[in-house]
Amino acid sequence: MTDIIAPPAAVGDAVEAVDTPALLVDLDAFEANLQTMADRVAAAGLRLRPHAKTHKSAAIARRQMALGAVGVCCQKVSEAEALVRAGVPDVLVSNEVIDARKLDRLARLAMAAHIGICVDSMEGLRALSSACDRHGVRVDVLVEINVGGDRCGVEPGEAALELATAAQSSPSVRYAGLQAYHGRAQHLRSWRERYEAIQAATAAAARTRDLLAAHGLPSDVITGGGTGSHPFELASGVYSELQAGSYVFMDADYGRNLDEQGEARSDYRQSLFVYTQVMSMPGRRYAIVDAGLKAMSFDSGMPLVAEQPELTYCRPSDEHGMLDLASTEASRLRIGDKVRLIPGHCDPTVGLYDWIVAFRGERVEEVWPVDARGALS
Ligand SMILES: *Cc1c(COP(=O)(O)O)cnc(C)c1O
Repeated sequence: MTDIIAPPAAVGDAVEAVDTPALLVDLDAFEANLQTMADRVAAAGLRLRPHAKTHKSAAIARRQMALGAVGVCCQKVSEAEALVRAGVPDVLVSNEVIDARKLDRLARLAMAAHIGICVDSMEGLRALSSACDRHGVRVDVLVEINVGGDRCGVEPGEAALELATAAQSSPSVRYAGLQAYHGRAQHLRSWRERYEAIQAATAAAARTRDLLAAHGLPSDVITGGGTGSHPFELASGVYSELQAGSYVFMDADYGRNLDEQGEARSDYRQSLFVYTQVMSMPGRRYAIVDAGLKAMSFDSGMPLVAEQPELTYCRPSDEHGMLDLASTEASRLRIGDKVRLIPGHCDPTVGLYDWIVAFRGERVEEVWPVDARGALS
C-alpha cells in the first residue's frame, strides 16, 4: 500500500516544501520523548513495551527498542503482522481476538516472532488454543482484568483465577500474567483523579496476582499503563511492564491533562503535527486550509494551531478546514502559507496517513512508512 501513495517529501527537502496535508514529526521533540520515557521506565526497574497503535511504524518501534523497549503492543492482529513483517520480533496483542481466521493469522505469526495475547473469556481461550494446536505453536496468554476502565477484562479475583487456571491447563498456551490497563484513567484531567484511579487498579492487580500465586499460578508479567497514568504504574511496585504509546507524539487532548500543581504541563513535548496549506482566503475573516475531516481525527475536539495559538481552527469539512483570523491582524497569513496543526488525538490521526515526515530544524531528515496503515482487522 505504501507503494501506491507517493511520499509527500524526500530526505533533504525543506520542511516548507512538504506536500500537504502531511504528518510531520519534529525529531528533536520526538527523540527527547523517547529518551525521557526510556530513562524513567529503566529507573523504576520496569520493562517498556510501548503501544504501537500510536505510530503503526516499524521505524519508530525500532528506535524504541534501541532505547531498551522489549517489544511493542499492538491492538490488532493485522497491525502485529505489518510490524513483524517489518522486523519487530516481539509483539503483545493487548486485546481480545476471538475470530478463528484472525487467530490462524496470529498463530502463523508466532512462528516468526514472540507473540502474546490477552483473553477475557473461556470462548476466547478455547478459540486461541485450538488455533495454536492447528499450527503447532504456543503463545503467551495474559488474562485481562477490568481495573476500572470498564472495557474488556474479567473482574479481578475469582473470575481471573478461573481463566488463568484454564490457560495453565491448555498445552498450547502459556499463562504469562495479567493485563491491567486502565484506559479511562489516561485522560482524567486532574493529577489526583488519575492517581486515585491507578491506586485502585494497582490494588486490584495485586490482589488478583496474589490469589493466583496462592493457587500455584505465578504471574511473570503485570502489564498496563499509558501516557496519562504512567508515573503511578511506575511507582506502584506491582506493574512489571508499561504500555504507554502516545508519549512519542502527544496531542491537544493530552495537552489538557493537569500536573500535580494543576498546570497543563507535561514532560513530553508535542512532536506530531498535521501540515496544511492555506488554499483560499475569500474574505478577511478566514483562511481556508486543505486539512479537514479526512486529515485528522476530531473525536477529541479541534486541532490547535502550533506557534500561532491566537488562530482557531473551525468548521472542518471533508477536505477543508478554516482558520478564524478574527482576533489577529488578518494580513499575516497569505495564500500558499503552510501551517502546523496539533491534532486533538494522535492515534486515529496517524492511522490516516501512509507516511510520516520526520524533520529537524528546517530540513526533512527521514521519511517513515506507516507500515500498519489501514490495519484494522
Ligand atoms: C491505547 C493503549 C495504551 C497506550 O495508551 P496511551 O494513552 O496512548 O499512552 C496502552 N495499552 C492499551 C491496552 C491501550 O489500548
